[in-house]
Amino acid sequence: MAHVLLAEVARQRGGLQLIASENFTSPAVLTALGSTLADKYAEGYPGERYYGGCAEADHAERLAVERARDLFGAEHANVQPHSGAAANLAAYAALAEPGDPVLAMELSHGGHLTHGSRVNFSGKWFHPIGYRVRADTELIDYDEVRDLALAHRPKIIMCGATAYPRLIDFAAFREIADEVGAYLVVDAAHFIGLVAGRAVPSPVPHADVVTCTTHKVLRGPRGGMILCRAELAQRIDKAVFPFSQGGPMMHVVAAKAVALREAAQPAFRAYAEQVVANARALSAGLAAQGMRPVTGGTDTHLALTDLRDTGICGRDAEARCELARITINKNAIPYDPERPAVASGIRVGTPSVTTQGMREDEMRQIAGLIGGAVRSDPATTAGAARLADAADEVAALVRRFPAYGRQEV
Ligand code: PLP
Repeated sequence: MAHVLLAEVARQRGGLQLIASENFTSPAVLTALGSTLADKYAEGYPGERYYGGCAEADHAERLAVERARDLFGAEHANVQPHSGAAANLAAYAALAEPGDPVLAMELSHGGHLTHGSRVNFSGKWFHPIGYRVRADTELIDYDEVRDLALAHRPKIIMCGATAYPRLIDFAAFREIADEVGAYLVVDAAHFIGLVAGRAVPSPVPHADVVTCTTHKVLRGPRGGMILCRAELAQRIDKAVFPFSQGGPMMHVVAAKAVALREAAQPAFRAYAEQVVANARALSAGLAAQGMRPVTGGTDTHLALTDLRDTGICGRDAEARCELARITINKNAIPYDPERPAVASGIRVGTPSVTTQGMREDEMRQIAGLIGGAVRSDPATTAGAARLADAADEVAALVRRFPAYGRQEV
């Protein structure tokens, strides 16, 4: 296994990591993840465990909960969900019964599998209704959301997405939820780190429940978290344990506490602002390369880019970029004529490269590298040579900004 771990470090450090949902954690977070809390069973909650020997586990969890509440101004926090998907399962289980209607963004328009997809609990156990973005602006169609809410009277309205580059109007969703008596759940998995760094508005004052992951812009360990109003605390806690999970991963809970403390430092604000500035620069740079930004740009950490003008599909673009040591993902764009496995777009995100210390100049360079790679056919001698040159340029760039070698906080 050692050779696998070393090869993965080399892969991460040797190329550009532009997956919007990834990041590089700090040595302190990695230390907590590799700690002996990994060996401890602690079913239950602090002070009410089903196992002995939980004093330090209690400390770790109380710290994580306190820090989450303070950082986000939330009345209650549950830090036990193993993942973002687990957090969403718990939120749905806490607020709705099987068969209840839930209104959420369609997967093909940027929503997540766990919001209302037929291949997932969300669509199998609940009755999903999907809202979309407008064809002209590619922005959430709030009129459609309201019409669907009035027609279907959902128990839950879910907002938050996996490939939506713009701010979400939480107040508008709150108003619609109030009009139909629905709970408002915000899945902030992608942008909770930007909320922590005060780079985007917080959903916490508007939502009944906020679910999120801790490993994206927030730069913590892989895992989930739920924030909610005090009156829903018990229902949320019971929906996590014992309803949907067993023992919490206490080493991950400890690492969440570490990451939340890091996210409360002033340097994290500078990082969060830079993540957005970098995403804007990257999005504009890709536009200059003939790749249209969906919605015209971005307000967040990611850009969704329509490649149709290049004649290259998302799948081929992803493969070509990989040959240039640039990791991105193909992504469906709204109203995509291609199937998801092919896709007309790519999604790029700036958390990892920002953690490495890169800024707008590097984003413009990266946009040029992506533009060149997408247009280089590896089946031709000239294309293969161009991709090899791009890989060399990437290697030189990441040597100046080593992953795991430089941390802002
Ligand atoms: N919610 C959103 C909006 C996501 O984008 C993701 C994953 O990318 C998740 C939930 C699921 O998170 P996890 O992979 O930790 O289950």
